[in-house]
Amino acid sequence: MLYRQAVRLHNASAPRRAWLLASKVRREGRAMSGLPLFVPRPALRFAVIGGGFAGCAVAWHLLAAARAHSPIAVTLYDGAGLCGGASRAAAGLLHPFTPRGRLLWRGDEAVADALELVAAAEAAAARAAACAACDTDKTERDPDIGLEDRFVWRQPLMRPARNEQQAREFAAAEGRTTGSGFQVSPLPAAAVAALAPGMCADAIAAASAAGGAGAALLVQGGLVLHPERYLRALWEACRQRAADIGGGCAAQLVRQHVPSLVQLQADAGPFDAVVVAAGAAVGVLPELRGLLPLELCQGFTLELAPPSGRAAHTLPGGTLYPAGAPSLLGEFYVAAQGRSTAVVGATRRYGLTPLASLAECGKAVDWTRGEAAAAACELQREAAALWPAAASWQVAAVRSGVRAMPPRTQDGKEQAHRNYGVQALATCSDLAHRVEDALK
Ligand SMILES: Cc1cc2nc3c(=O)[nH]c(=O)nc-3n(C[C@H](O)[C@H](O)[C@H](O)COP(=O)(O)OP(=O)(O)OC[C@H]3O[C@@H](n4cnc5c(N)ncnc54)[C@H](O)[C@@H]3O)c2cc1C
Repeated sequence: MLYRQAVRLHNASAPRRAWLLASKVRREGRAMSGLPLFVPRPALRFAVIGGGFAGCAVAWHLLAAARAHSPIAVTLYDGAGLCGGASRAAAGLLHPFTPRGRLLWRGDEAVADALELVAAAEAAAARAAACAACDTDKTERDPDIGLEDRFVWRQPLMRPARNEQQAREFAAAEGRTTGSGFQVSPLPAAAVAALAPGMCADAIAAASAAGGAGAALLVQGGLVLHPERYLRALWEACRQRAADIGGGCAAQLVRQHVPSLVQLQADAGPFDAVVVAAGAAVGVLPELRGLLPLELCQGFTLELAPPSGRAAHTLPGGTLYPAGAPSLLGEFYVAAQGRSTAVVGATRRYGLTPLASLAECGKAVDWTRGEAAAAACELQREAAALWPAAASWQVAAVRSGVRAMPPRTQDGKEQAHRNYGVQALATCSDLAHRVEDALK
């Protein structure tokens, strides 16, 4: 009786309740002869709202917990497609240290998680390329999601001293190593000049005035990512994982804005859980409006490419980013993606609303006019102060995104222990552990 009810429920698309009932049948040993004993466990259904760094990481961790006998189906919703929000504007610099070279709160865990995701994305991209080459990929791939280009550069990062005082602080900072292989150490002026020829002249001068030992902090183990290509590859990793496990596992991208959680459940539910990773636009969802004390800050980044034509021949020191030179950290920063792309960040404009933040997602930026043009000028000028050749590179793109930051304390400092960005990365794996427990 119970078993018949279970099969009926399963066919009537109430698979989870049916599975629970069938499990009860099995436990109680009441299976009847002549009827199949196995009712497959239905997939746990998750909706993830937001296809940026956070949402894609959540999707990957969820699917990493899936097994053939306990499948998971993830539907990722993003009105702007993959990487349409702040993640698209990010310069892609990855390391776990504060400007003073201290470890961020839970920074080691966060970068360890991030490195795992980068490795998964690289493996998925390599596998997709191999499958495409020998035409063995039988699973359906989204034609809009290309995976052909490189997206990670492993190279040291360097924070030049801003002034004499910082040069003294850097000189006194002892070397620090993290469990995930990052290391920070002071760099004397002569080493900066050798590592980054012609760059960071102000830092070298400040260090010379302060005794020469702390012209910069060097971060070994740092990465620069191309955010959009990285997220495409990470999503491919999700898709491959779901296809490999089969049995109801799925990774589906829906390019749709979610107006509210209630509406989502009504239109596409029931979901066993909905994970909101909507970045700065989180407050647009009526259920979450006003709940998170976030400060929203819009920023532009500038992508530069080497000059072409006549300008290229007159450039001292060559036309490419100096070989082996680190990317540069600081209030303004330069993230080198190889020798012929440099991303410069970033401007800051506070006081946006969640709705204005949502409007920035997926928006094409016209950098020939208005505030985008002004931002491009400012960023190129700041880049040239660190690396003079930047003045003659060409603008390849300007991107805009809105950061969701923890509120400031009364003295204007960000609350160090409420670093939501790091917390988000760290809690992705916490979530995965909870899902694994639920599946046991
Ligand atoms: C200019 C700039 C430079 C930066 N540089 C760096 C850097 O070098 N290194 C670094 O570590 N960090 C950097 N950051 C910070 C980093 O970009 C963010 O912390 C990170 O991208 C946040 O990711 P997220 O997934 O939480 O949000 P987002 O990337 O903003 O993703 C949220 C997504 O949710 C979607 N969405 C929102 N609401 C809905 C809805 N209702 N329905 C459907 N979809 C919805 C949006 O379209 C968006 O794609 C930078 C940020 C900016 C703005």
